[in-house]
Amino acid sequence: MSMTHVFPTYDRFDFEPISGNGVVVTDDQGQDYLDFTSGIGVCNFGYENTKIQNAVSVQLTKMWHISNLYQNHLQEAVAELLVGDEDKLVFFANSGTEANEAALKLARKATGKSKVLSFNHSFHGRTYGSMSMTGNDHIKEGFAPLVPDISFVDYNDEASLDAITDDLAAVILEVIQGEGGVIVGDQDWLHAVQAKCKVTNTLFIIDEVQTGIGRTGYKFAYQGVGLDPDIVTSAKALANGLPVGAMIGKANLGPAFGPGTHGSTFAGNPLTMSAAQAVLTQLTPAFLEEVRDKAASVWDELDRFDDLKIVNSVSGRGLMIGIHLTADVAVNDVIKALHQKGLLTLSAVGNTLRLLPPLVMSKSDLLSGLHTIYQVLEENM
Ligand SMILES: *Cc1c(COP(=O)(O)O)cnc(C)c1O
Repeated sequence: MSMTHVFPTYDRFDFEPISGNGVVVTDDQGQDYLDFTSGIGVCNFGYENTKIQNAVSVQLTKMWHISNLYQNHLQEAVAELLVGDEDKLVFFANSGTEANEAALKLARKATGKSKVLSFNHSFHGRTYGSMSMTGNDHIKEGFAPLVPDISFVDYNDEASLDAITDDLAAVILEVIQGEGGVIVGDQDWLHAVQAKCKVTNTLFIIDEVQTGIGRTGYKFAYQGVGLDPDIVTSAKALANGLPVGAMIGKANLGPAFGPGTHGSTFAGNPLTMSAAQAVLTQLTPAFLEEVRDKAASVWDELDRFDDLKIVNSVSGRGLMIGIHLTADVAVNDVIKALHQKGLLTLSAVGNTLRLLPPLVMSKSDLLSGLHTIYQVLEENM
């Protein structure tokens, strides 16, 4: 088929996945694919997860929308699951970009300052505020004027610390830059950024839209490296595919987001909240430990990839993986070759083959997928 009635904003592959079960996706021709994409880091619990499906089915028959003018016990339950025993508050949104818009608005309102520092190669979304904080010129091309007072410095660079000054409302970053090429933040540098934010009264915002909800083996990736951000944003995997975003902020920011300051018609509706609740109740310490254990085997296997001539390096944490290919091969050709072998994969900036398998994938399926990738990369040498 060809899609002639839809704006051509996406460069789509020529087949249509129509169903999914566990970690396998089936297309309209009946071909099965082992899924190393989870949507794009969304279906962390795979397809047809019984607990999520049951929760949503039950809620569907009760009520799927009611406005934010009333009490909502599901929002409270999800917020409680998100913050744990920390003194934090949650604002619900419908997507990652909306969660980051909320963070930008809150940072300006709470500090009374306007300037925001972001990083080259970052990705924070496509709406104006989030796009303006995104460190990729290609994404912003033709859309000027952007939101003012946002500047960019290099990620993982000591010199960037000098740009964190008293006149900033916030610094925003990803613990691992996802779309930008699976670039892992250096732990000492991340802590230095946080420390500089503290002394300059700058809010430290961590965008966990891609890295969160177990992707790196922790509820949020910042917890794995011991950070303490003022604001955290989440979306993608939060409701395993139903549209939910969340901004989590320290409770002392509460007064800046009082009644009427911000809102959303759909956000936090009972249907998506029932899915988020079923996701977060399954994201137990034992589940996360299992993810870290599976990831350890995956990273043992990935060591071998350095031997391949068309691989420059491999980066990532947990089940967020970037295989950086040399200029000798185009990542999209590799992705298409992998489709032929029954495997779905993603790309990222910098000719990077990006892998985001569902966290529920078995160790043997993870290793078998890697084996397929190794073979295809070897054949392309
Ligand atoms: C995907 C992504 C976003 C945008 O999320 P949407 O739900 O597409 O708006 C923001 N930040 C990061 C780090 C992402 O990976």
